[in-house]
Amino acid sequence: MSDGVTIPQDMLPSDGRFGSGPSKIRHEQIQAIVDAGSSLMGTSHRKPPVRRLVASIREGLADFFSLPEGYEVALGNGGASAFWDIACACLIDHRAAFGSYGSFSAKFANEAASAPFLEAPAVYTSEPGTYRVPDPTEGVDAYCWAHNETSTGVSAPVERVKGSGAQGALTLIDGTSAAGALPVDVSQTDAYYFSPQKAFGADGGLWFALLSPEAVDRAYSIEDRTRRSADGRWIPAFLSLTTALENSRKEQTLNTPAVATLILMENQIRWMNGNGGLAWSTARCATSAQTVYDWAESSDYARPFVADSAARSHSVVTVDLDQDVDASKVVETLASNGIRDTAGYRKLGRNQLRIGVFPSVDPEDVKALTGCIDYVVERL
Ligand SMILES: *Cc1c(COP(=O)(O)O)cnc(C)c1O
Repeated sequence: MSDGVTIPQDMLPSDGRFGSGPSKIRHEQIQAIVDAGSSLMGTSHRKPPVRRLVASIREGLADFFSLPEGYEVALGNGGASAFWDIACACLIDHRAAFGSYGSFSAKFANEAASAPFLEAPAVYTSEPGTYRVPDPTEGVDAYCWAHNETSTGVSAPVERVKGSGAQGALTLIDGTSAAGALPVDVSQTDAYYFSPQKAFGADGGLWFALLSPEAVDRAYSIEDRTRRSADGRWIPAFLSLTTALENSRKEQTLNTPAVATLILMENQIRWMNGNGGLAWSTARCATSAQTVYDWAESSDYARPFVADSAARSHSVVTVDLDQDVDASKVVETLASNGIRDTAGYRKLGRNQLRIGVFPSVDPEDVKALTGCIDYVVERL
């Protein structure tokens, strides 16, 4: 080992993956790809076997999130980043308001700011480590923020902004590192969208969105108007939400998906539903997260980064270390012992550890991790 600290075997977690996305993929998910081998991999995504897989995912997500009456599950290629552009093209009519409190929430606001056919957004910002839900704002037709800001480990409430209903404004929530790990009432949103490589422990490349009837109506009306009149908006087929939705209803995607990602996702949703669904997976994440926060609070060299304990994420846990403990050295030493991806978000630039405690991660392994961190810090 490069730095000479070898953690005793019996202290190590059974699995050393603590990434905040891509995150741990369970062995059974990998096995599902092997088992499905020649019956699914390398076969047409327009034929029944892969379409059945997509159907199982859509039904499984509807179950998992207790999907409100009239809501639909849509999916497509490109991940949550693609959905930001889809939302700019098909869900924001003229102007949106954003909460911006970290890298990911800022990215969506920046996309809307750069769309030439949208008015400059109203952006409500706050310091990293805190959150900011947009204020009620006159003249906006969409309110947007992230349920969990993955770059800082902050979670924000998901509750419609006062007056947004009367205003006819949609609520578009980035649930990427929250969906499956944090409790949510989907009826408080019009689009709750996410990528599969975080709490769903699959691979990247797809987006999923739970859409309200109002969101679907909005997309049809914007896309119809754009087709009929030259209002300066171009909606590429790849960014058309109605096209994605119509493909989803047929258990397909507009263009070819990664079938392996679908297999991983389908296996994970069945695993989570089989164990007790959203209540089970969110309780499991809460337990894991609390283990790390409790450890940090009682540690003499670490403390939770997020001051407001109610805003501390249950899926991405951030912990500041004292300046005389070099976090990058700790991360490196953990990695040389097989414990991966515990570094803070690079652009945040803090002396910090960031630990993904998604449903796939065993709470016992999280406990073991805290012991390993202490072991390493004592010896560096
Ligand atoms: C990871 C992440 C994204 C980006 O997801 P991609 O699949 O890489 O597009 C967006 N928002 C949040 C909150 C994330 O954690």
